[in-house]
Amino acid sequence: MKKIRKLAPNEAQKIAAGEVVERPANVLKELLENAIDAQSTKIAIYIKNGGKELLRVVDNGCGMSPEDAKLCFEEHATSKITCVDELTSITTFGFRGEALASIAAVSKTTLITKEADCEQGTKIEIEASKLINNKNDEIVHANTGTDITITDLFYNVPARQKFLKTRETEWRQIQQLFFAFCLAHTHIDFKLYSEDKLLYNCPKIETIEGRISQLFESTLVKHIVPISHTHKKITIAGVISNHQFERYDRNMIYLFVNQRWVKDTALSRAFMKGYQQVLPPGRYPAGCIFISVDPHEVDINIHPRKEEVQFLHPRSVQKAITNTVTQALEQDLSQQLQKTVQFKPSIPLEKPQPYVQIPTVNRSATNFNPFNFDQFLSKSAQVNDEEPCELHEQTHAHQTIPQLNLQQTVHQSITPALSHQEYMLVGQYNRTYLLLEQEDGLLMIDQHAAHERILYERFCAQHGNIATIKLMFPQMITLTVQDMQMITEHIDLFTQYGIELEPFGTDTLKVQATPIQLKHAAMDEIIKDAIGYIHEYKELDQETFNQTMQKKLYAHMACKAAVKAGDVLSQEQMKQLIIDLYSTDKRFSCPHGRPTSWLMHLDEIKKKFKRDYRKQGVQ
Ligand code: ADP
Ligand code: MG
Repeated sequence: MKKIRKLAPNEAQKIAAGEVVERPANVLKELLENAIDAQSTKIAIYIKNGGKELLRVVDNGCGMSPEDAKLCFEEHATSKITCVDELTSITTFGFRGEALASIAAVSKTTLITKEADCEQGTKIEIEASKLINNKNDEIVHANTGTDITITDLFYNVPARQKFLKTRETEWRQIQQLFFAFCLAHTHIDFKLYSEDKLLYNCPKIETIEGRISQLFESTLVKHIVPISHTHKKITIAGVISNHQFERYDRNMIYLFVNQRWVKDTALSRAFMKGYQQVLPPGRYPAGCIFISVDPHEVDINIHPRKEEVQFLHPRSVQKAITNTVTQALEQDLSQQLQKTVQFKPSIPLEKPQPYVQIPTVNRSATNFNPFNFDQFLSKSAQVNDEEPCELHEQTHAHQTIPQLNLQQTVHQSITPALSHQEYMLVGQYNRTYLLLEQEDGLLMIDQHAAHERILYERFCAQHGNIATIKLMFPQMITLTVQDMQMITEHIDLFTQYGIELEPFGTDTLKVQATPIQLKHAAMDEIIKDAIGYIHEYKELDQETFNQTMQKKLYAHMACKAAVKAGDVLSQEQMKQLIIDLYSTDKRFSCPHGRPTSWLMHLDEIKKKFKRDYRKQGVQ
């Protein structure tokens, strides 16, 4: 081993800088925090080559005196705290006094700054921590505020420069950081230039929704839901996307803890958990969530770039996020439900109308309850004589465009309870989707996914008390001896699921009764899957085991019992399916997370057809 030697200060500084500054976006974060700490209301950012060549931040904040302008590049030089105990009451982003020292150690930096009551500004130029303007500082004309330019980042640390990514990757990081700052500080005017082009111009704005429309695609703002919840000194506020919006990545999830943007996996997981029943796996929501906690209950000083924080009670915070999101989504769904059942107002009969009243089928002969969809299904053999109103693709070989037959459009009240409201059921398309005309667009419902959700919720609600039917011919399932033993131990559990089982010899299981909806289903697949679940989850504690089994099994049972894509549905069946769906919680996704419905907005339809009513000639 060589002898221990103390590193030369400039070498030590370069190493320390790596902690704070790893890439251009980190530099920008420090500069923006400084600008905001200086009470700026206008901030302009200039970027070249993804920040590798140039990063410049111009603010209209309080500026610095000539003395401070020199001091600010010294290590541990800060105006924000005097001792660590002040951290819990801190109101600024910065406190370590190391950012500018670190940045200046690994780049060429130019600072121009002026305080409001000074006539002249100060200019300082530094390369690799060394002042390079001869007189140490220079008097210049300047606006009040600070203008700081960083060029050639890591020019003197080739090892780190090598790790910088492509211009596009660095730019994406910068853009994401810019969005985060814009979202958290709506009272500030932000401008972002890249290669001298103004890419984002975001004047200050009152609401977060307004900010979102300045920054993101226009569809997002149509699908956002405000959140606000306080529980035991934890406040969760902001906006989140609803069930109609989804992304393939998590890049639109912005989390802030006491106004600081953080990248915390546990918090984003807690956020996404709120969407478990709403979005399919592999799809992500968008959200801008402000978490406020007592400063004594969070440590903001655990990460070199302050990107992570540590909570005293992380579980409570995570739970608060999940609950807030779940509740907001449920509330949004119920509001949409109210909106959706306000289908088209009734059209007086004397007016000419494109809608045709379909005569009600007399079902008294079959003792049929039109509002029990399960009953419809159990007599699926009769489906064909129930005047199907399907709008699926015509079967002419030469014709590939789906035909909508408006003559078959119905206009009926939805349930006795909702009889004052009317809706427009256009029909069934492709023997899979129910089409509904709504005031704000065309709603498509996936009949299988919708029915799965209905049955799943019904099974859960009736757990332990599910209506069953004795099978006239019990189904016999052959199993291995081990699986027989395993299932015999859990026979009571199956009774609660509405499945009556009886061992028959050492390797055969008799299915005596099933839930009514499953009376025609092949039970061997359900039972064999259930055995798989028992193997998988048997190590869990009793309560979690029961809950998990219930979820898994009911989802599977619902899938088996539900109508399938390709099943022709009658008017009454469609109507009942819609009624049932609309009285079901979490009705926007099936138990596996696939969406049950999709609204094609009228605006989007009009846009597609280039209908602009201000122009003449569009009828
Ligand atoms: P910290 O922000 O942790 O104090 P920095 O190295 O980022 O450390 O900044 C050092 C000091 O320089 C700050 O405390 C502040 O007084 C001053 N400063 C930096 N940037 C600005 C700015 N844009 N406007 C006014 N003062 C600034
Ligand atoms: Mg700082």
